[in-house]
Amino acid sequence: VRARVMEVDESPDVGYEDIGGLDDQLREVRETVELPMKEPGMFDTVGIDPPSGVLLHGPPGTGKTLMAKAVAAQTDATFIKMAGSELVHKFIGEGAKLVRDLFQVARDHEPAVVFIDEIDAIASKRTDSKTSGDAEVQRTMMQLLSEMDGFDERGDIRIIAATNRFDMLDRAILRPGRFDRLIEVPNPDETGREKIFRIHTRNMNLAENVDFARLAAETDDKSGADVAAICTEAGMFAIRDDREEITMQDFQNALEKLEQDTDASAEPTR
Ligand code: ATP
Repeated sequence: VRARVMEVDESPDVGYEDIGGLDDQLREVRETVELPMKEPGMFDTVGIDPPSGVLLHGPPGTGKTLMAKAVAAQTDATFIKMAGSELVHKFIGEGAKLVRDLFQVARDHEPAVVFIDEIDAIASKRTDSKTSGDAEVQRTMMQLLSEMDGFDERGDIRIIAATNRFDMLDRAILRPGRFDRLIEVPNPDETGREKIFRIHTRNMNLAENVDFARLAAETDDKSGADVAAICTEAGMFAIRDDREEITMQDFQNALEKLEQDTDASAEPTR
């Protein structure tokens, strides 16, 4: 069961140089997650507690998971990921048990970074908390908060949660001692997109006419994940054409394809 719902990566291989355009966010994550793991004494000396939990929020595909993985790699910590939706179960007590398992796995792998994606699945504002399903979800959240209370902030387990639906969150989880450090992770701006294009084409055999500044200018509103997908798709166009070099036209075709696919999936299905 564990293997299915939990991702445990003992040596994640993402570096800060793999993340484009999130300089401020990365600085905050390093200060709140990396520093307490690497220099716990500093917090003791100054006499403050580091934040208990960090919450990353923003649209899908902007690099939230990437940042959590990179900070785990940087601290030689095990990266443990679970999606909030996996914690929602029909059977009473099942979600809470999974939360206990999650933290047991973290303790077995210290130092560890626990990343809980889609935290909104277990921490949404509810209109009617009296239905039994909601009560079960609430118990799961209570278990998570109690696990967080149970260990030292300067310890070797750090918790990062993420959501695409910040507005839906139950404000109770944002109280001090809980997820008390919020970091917004937006879609990249033009400069960020250019950096992300460069990162994802590092190993690609590019023709000289490939112009990242122009591609960045033509990809307004695209996420980091979109940019990564455009790069892969550009490579596919070259392969289909039996060419070894990827040209600017391949990138433009890839962008066009992405836009068509997006339009198609936006159409109502019947
Ligand atoms: P979700 O909310 O959907 O879980 P996320 O914000 O966690 O999304 P990631 O899983 O970090 O998104 O990003 C998906 C992929 O998109 C990454 O593996 C990477 O290839 C690419 N990507 C996204 N953002 C960036 C970025 N800022 N720099 C480099 N690559 C990025």
